[in-house]
Amino acid sequence: MDKNSSPIGSFIRKLFGSHRKRSAGEASPQTSGPQLIPEEVHQIPRRQLNDAAMKTAYHLQDEGYEGYLVGGCIRDLLMNKHPKDFDVATNATPEQAHALFRRSRLIGRRFKLLHVRFGRDMIEVATFRASHDSHPKNSDGEHGRQNDSGMIVRDNVYGTIEEDALRRDFTVNALYYCPKDHCVYDFTHGYNDLKNRTLRMIGDPDARYREDPVRMLRAARFAAKLGFTIEPETEAPLYELGYLLKDIAPARLFDEVLKIFQSGHGVESYHQFRKYGLLEHIFSQTAYCLDNPQGAPVEQLVLNALQNTDRRLQQDKSVTPAFLFAALLWYPMQQRMRKLQQQEGLHTVPAMHEAANQVIGEQISQTAIPRRFSTPIREIWELQFRLPRRQGKRADRLMEHPRFRAAYDLLVLRENSGEDLEGLGKWWTDYQTQNPQIRSHMSREVPKDEAPKRRRRRRSPAKKHEQNNG
Ligand code: ATP
Ligand code: MG
Repeated sequence: MDKNSSPIGSFIRKLFGSHRKRSAGEASPQTSGPQLIPEEVHQIPRRQLNDAAMKTAYHLQDEGYEGYLVGGCIRDLLMNKHPKDFDVATNATPEQAHALFRRSRLIGRRFKLLHVRFGRDMIEVATFRASHDSHPKNSDGEHGRQNDSGMIVRDNVYGTIEEDALRRDFTVNALYYCPKDHCVYDFTHGYNDLKNRTLRMIGDPDARYREDPVRMLRAARFAAKLGFTIEPETEAPLYELGYLLKDIAPARLFDEVLKIFQSGHGVESYHQFRKYGLLEHIFSQTAYCLDNPQGAPVEQLVLNALQNTDRRLQQDKSVTPAFLFAALLWYPMQQRMRKLQQQEGLHTVPAMHEAANQVIGEQISQTAIPRRFSTPIREIWELQFRLPRRQGKRADRLMEHPRFRAAYDLLVLRENSGEDLEGLGKWWTDYQTQNPQIRSHMSREVPKDEAPKRRRRRRSPAKKHEQNNG
């Protein structure tokens, strides 16, 4: 039997219809009201609900506003997954909500929000948003604004819960959990889609991607994370509209890329991005190398790096974005370096530095890389050229380098991916497990040509004189 036509369903639905508070100036709903999924049907265990999020929503309701847990947290709980974060939606404006919570802070301009702190938990409270078309009065530039290609550049047009549901991206992301009656409110048939493992865009997919092209990356990420099928109409524009990502602020794309890397489903996300041709819009240099590998095991390295990260996340180990960027951009850097050596006759080290500048510079124009990551990326690359030079005391000194571990990991990944490094990765693996005596023996045994002599910088008296005099 359809859950929604069950007696308990219709009973709660009636109850909900008569009790729900309306916010001031509320427009008439565009939907026929929500489907209500009672607790005995959805079976989200109460102990899985974040305490701070529940208290926040509850407090809002006690103060006469609406307050629900919403979005990814409800979707993930229905899938028996552990939510990454908990979001609350309300009809209180950010300022009204701010007045209710002592430890809260207003943030954002494009999308105004309230951050409420409970000990170590931080709950994001968002006011119900409406589509800009339904509130032309508010799309005045101050509250809501779209650019010439229809992209939303400001999204602070407030509305009702129904409108809020309709402006969300996918139906499975538009489920609301009420802390008082413990029901899930569904305005877009998201519960059905979730049970059928379908990712469906709310509204007209083409227009919704144009409004916010980041939704394409989100579609690929959720399909990968949830193992969902993207519904055909939601899927079709993904092949066409990737180029719109060029209009997204690089800092926002960097955040999105981090979410992909840290989702624990990097490998599957990669396959999705390749399938829809989205990778070339966020990692264009890597995509180029993948299509023109010039004999290097480019795809193997990318897959191994992502698999490594996915595995570490499963084991609750930390991952550093610098390592992944270093791996994904390793062959672009190598190709650039070779070109600089061949065309401009640069030596290894200056060629590497110049190639690193160029490759990181180009990547930054797509996905901003904060300096706290770009410096380690350069160091990890630089160490790839120092790790072969391990004779005498050098090996121990290299191991003290703060980036040694990441550089060693990349070296092993390169070797495991099929690059011929003459057993260098294995040498370093062995070296780290040996006692000092064997270590010293190992570093003495390194063939001379792999440990070039240090060049003494002895200047001739004539040169010295020349330089001292300007
Ligand atoms: P996760 O946190 O697992 O990455 P999520 O769905 O919770 O996934 P968030 O970025 O935390 O993603 O966003 C919370 C909710 O806000 C989403 O579930 C969705 O309803 C809405 N949302 C987020 N980004 C967009 C967007 N670009 N367009 C429309 N709705 C969005
Ligand atoms: Mg979330």
